[in-house]
Amino acid sequence: MEKILQQIINSNKKYTLDGQVASYIPELRNANSEDLGICVIDMNNSMYSAGDCDKKFTIQSISKTIVLAMALMDNEWDYVFSKVGMEPSGDPFNSIMKLETNDTKKPCNPMINAGAIVTTSLIKGNTLQEKEDRMLAFFRKLAKNDTLQINESVYKSEKLTGDRNRAMGYLLKNDGYIEANVEETLDLYFKQCSIEVTVKDLARIGLLFSNYGIDIETGKRIISEEICRMVKTFMITCGMYDASGEFALKVGIPAKSGVGGGIMASVPRKIGIGVYGPALDKKGNSIGGLRVLKTLSKKLNLNIF
Ligand code: GLU
Repeated sequence: MEKILQQIINSNKKYTLDGQVASYIPELRNANSEDLGICVIDMNNSMYSAGDCDKKFTIQSISKTIVLAMALMDNEWDYVFSKVGMEPSGDPFNSIMKLETNDTKKPCNPMINAGAIVTTSLIKGNTLQEKEDRMLAFFRKLAKNDTLQINESVYKSEKLTGDRNRAMGYLLKNDGYIEANVEETLDLYFKQCSIEVTVKDLARIGLLFSNYGIDIETGKRIISEEICRMVKTFMITCGMYDASGEFALKVGIPAKSGVGGGIMASVPRKIGIGVYGPALDKKGNSIGGLRVLKTLSKKLNLNIF
């Protein structure tokens, strides 16, 4: 398996040259655009990796899957979906447009920024610190990695430049979709995006969703089966920005990408996958990562359809 992964990295490395690292968050410019790495963990808990598999990067939008799970665990589901929709938007991840043009002004889904800011606002805790502690603890539990940390420079960089997200936060508050304090919600959102991971952490989290919420090592339930199903459904329909349809057609695996260059993928009852390649295509997906997943899906017959 490791050989296959190494071959896939080698044959797709050239595509990283066609993309660019995200620059709208200044700190993300520091990534090495030619990095490419993958990790796969299967149902026997065997881990295989190749390429830049120990590089740390910020989780960015992939955090939206985890925070969605947390919001659904913390609240009544009907309440969550009264605040955020279930439909793909077809717009870029940071688009503000439908918050004005939709009849209801409700954010389309929890995988775009507007919807994710809402799910972040639903995390329970008496103080901002308590919410942050609960969030980080949950990420660590899912990744089975107690060393996960917030990258302070990325967090500060996001907070300083996140005015578009701030604008969405205030619109959402105005329209009743956020009840919590907007600045606190955004602070938590910037922090969740700035949690540093490797592809191994992503593969571990992906595997938990693949296994419908049961920790493969201990047999303990961490997340309910229904919530894992919902998260994976959102990954398929909305996880790859406005390229989700094409990705579902060509790769056919529930996946979520982030502008840090990570992609987490989850093949039900088979494997969890983490991929990293910070050079992005125009829609914000890792350009090398997409190729790697496409090749892997074909090679191992992973298409769920
Ligand atoms: N922190 C990023 C933002 O809010 C996340 C975007 C992403 O990874 O899609 O713009």
